[in-house]
Amino acid sequence: MIELIGFLYSIILGAVITSFTNVVGLRVPRKQSIVTPRSHCPSCGHELSPWELIPIFGYLALRGRCRGCGERIAPTYPIFELLGAIGYGYSYTLYGFSMTTLLAFAFLSTLLALAVSDLSTMLVPNVILRITAPVLLVLTYVAGATWWSPLAGALLGFSLLATVFFVSKGGLGAGDVKLFTMIGLVLGPRDVLVALFLSSLIGAVVGMGLIASKKIGRKQPIPFVPSIALGTMLTFWFSESFFDWYFELM
Ligand SMILES: [Zn+2]
Repeated sequence: MIELIGFLYSIILGAVITSFTNVVGLRVPRKQSIVTPRSHCPSCGHELSPWELIPIFGYLALRGRCRGCGERIAPTYPIFELLGAIGYGYSYTLYGFSMTTLLAFAFLSTLLALAVSDLSTMLVPNVILRITAPVLLVLTYVAGATWWSPLAGALLGFSLLATVFFVSKGGLGAGDVKLFTMIGLVLGPRDVLVALFLSSLIGAVVGMGLIASKKIGRKQPIPFVPSIALGTMLTFWFSESFFDWYFELM
């Protein structure tokens, strides 16, 4: 029973926090306040009432259109809220009532805020990294990391991405370098490599898919952070059991 309550609570918390990180990801890179003005329709200014703000269900009840002017609401927001809810619920299933669950929540929400920001403005705001990195570092230690793992992970993430940054001359943003430094803090040296591998793979598939479906031109930059977020969380959740399984085979 207590397990079920914890699980449901995690799902609701995930949806609610993600509707907040959506606001952060949209407003912070534009240097707007995250408190005022209240959420409103970008085309007609209609201010959202409390029930319209309910994650996922508000969007469904409105059938994806603004009540003021009928303009379509971007499905990105409810999709992210759904991903946040699933991610929180899944983390709780894996780690129960523990510091690792708290770390997973904070890590996922940071990545979701940055993904929204990248999708809407192609920016990875420094201020989000500056606020979240120390919190994530503390949680990583409290969740049981060795003293050297975050340091080695951050150093490795930074040096690899900085190398790619200078070699590719702009194929990668400076924001991606900082982001992988933070990812290294949480994942440590082995898993930051796994996350980089998975993120690049997902990014390549997404990029080829978008070009093949003519959604974007060949030269157009593609936001990479959503792929990084997915690759990184998959690493966080599955890398340990993958390596356990792999070394048992040998
Ligand atoms: Zn409207």
